[in-house]
Amino acid sequence: MTGLKPSWIDSANAPDTDFPLNNLPYGVFSVDDGDLRCGVAIGDRIVDATGLEAAGILRADPEADVLDAPWWNDFMELGPKVWADYRARLTALLSDGADEQTQEAVITHSVPMAQATLHMPFRVSEYTDFYAGRHHATNVGTMFRGAENALPPNWLHIPIGYNGRASSVVVSGTDVTRPHGQLKGPNDTVPRFGPSARFDIELEMGAIVGTASDGPISVAEAYDNIFGYVLLNDWSARDIQAWEYQPLGPFQAKATATTISPWIVTAAALEPFRTSTPEREKDLLPYLQEPGPMLYDIALDVGLTPAGGDETVIARTNYNEMYYSAAQQLAHHTTCGCPMRVGDLLGSGTISGPEKDMRGSLLELSWGGKEPLTLDSGETRSFIEDGDTLALRGAAQGDGFRIGFGPCLGTVTPARS
Ligand code: MN
Repeated sequence: MTGLKPSWIDSANAPDTDFPLNNLPYGVFSVDDGDLRCGVAIGDRIVDATGLEAAGILRADPEADVLDAPWWNDFMELGPKVWADYRARLTALLSDGADEQTQEAVITHSVPMAQATLHMPFRVSEYTDFYAGRHHATNVGTMFRGAENALPPNWLHIPIGYNGRASSVVVSGTDVTRPHGQLKGPNDTVPRFGPSARFDIELEMGAIVGTASDGPISVAEAYDNIFGYVLLNDWSARDIQAWEYQPLGPFQAKATATTISPWIVTAAALEPFRTSTPEREKDLLPYLQEPGPMLYDIALDVGLTPAGGDETVIARTNYNEMYYSAAQQLAHHTTCGCPMRVGDLLGSGTISGPEKDMRGSLLELSWGGKEPLTLDSGETRSFIEDGDTLALRGAAQGDGFRIGFGPCLGTVTPARS
């Protein structure tokens, strides 16, 4: 395992920072209502990548100002060779071997993170959400269909998913309005229309496609086409979902909002943390088999903060609990000939672990509301209440450093009357 890469920016060398030199995640920021600019997180600062490009200090493309844009899509379009070259030159500029002149030039093009507002780091082209966590699928299946039919018959063979709405993806910090929908509980004789009473989170990772494809690609090609990862909260209205989902799957229950963390952590930064998917109960068809470890060891947790109260950590788990990697999901997605675009976002599916306190949704944590959670304040929760703030966090732990994502936050506001 590699150690910390030291930077001349001291805050980047703290063992608990999310953003050491080893990370260098890509985001979009503004200061004082100014223009949206591309930035790179390093310690407690943001390096203005748009400014470095304009000044000729660090350019991804000698011809075009690809970072003169409020997203990283144009940079992603340049392909993996440019991604690697840019990352190497950025690392050199920020490493403690950089000369004084370089340091002065870079610091001129940087701002304290505390002064910046973070925005969507990329333009979401399309959004697909999978259902690839075995513990989650088993738990939800047991509640919805009984223990015998918990895992659908296709589950161990196919990474199943549905096409979601790119328009609903928002950045961390955006409030989420409780949705209305058509509801029919087990004791209702007729459906009714009203605010969801079982509004929930789903703890997921989002993989971002950085290289377009047109036709089927292999799992190995899919791995190379993924630019990076974000934390992803797939807000879900369980009461709307339970009534609408058969036979075509989730629709309105999942289209209110999907929140992502503000920094794209690159696949390059996560490389030392690659790990294998679990042992297969049934052999996968050859097109889905991985040539090597393509999942990552990323510790995850979820915090719930009631309005005006303190946070309770309600779940801790790890991305390595997934049954299918993002590369397998992406390869499967292309089998029918479906074109993939730069900026496509693939949600992993809810990440739950084998233990009760490792469950990535309130549906599972409260077992459908039958076993409400007790928060540190003594209050209880079955599902989200108005004013609650939900925070997802994630980090890969290295030797003396961590590759963090920055929080993925959202506060739920009352349904519109
Ligand atoms: Mn989901």
